[in-house]
Amino acid sequence: MPPRLALIAHDKKKDDMVAFATMYAPFLRTCTLLATGTTGARLIAEVGLVVERKLSGPWGGDLQIGAELVAGRIDAVIFLRDPMTPQPHEPDINALVRACDVHNVACATNLATAHLVLTQLQTLSIQ
Ligand code: PGA
Repeated sequence: MPPRLALIAHDKKKDDMVAFATMYAPFLRTCTLLATGTTGARLIAEVGLVVERKLSGPWGGDLQIGAELVAGRIDAVIFLRDPMTPQPHEPDINALVRACDVHNVACATNLATAHLVLTQLQTLSIQ
């Protein structure tokens, strides 16, 4: 079964997410991808990925991804958070990161970790 990844980026991190996804596009095309609304729209438009879009984060998209995760349908989360800007849906963000910890699902909240997670997943997927 292909890896199932959730991709989320706060507004000031969306350019980073697009650049990151572009770098890993060949691998990401082999994965099942979910994203919050605006992040997903950019990944579809600018990277050409096939992405299941949930609601935008502030409208509950992080919670929808959390629901998929607790049901066992997500293998890793790339969540490029903006630590410098208060977010109206901070409780939802915390809930999603907590759900990753509760269910032991890899959760990369910055680019350095995101690279480590994807390179490892790539390696596992070619074995
Ligand atoms: P967005 O949501 O991709 O719809 O902007 C991300 C977030 O703010 O959690």
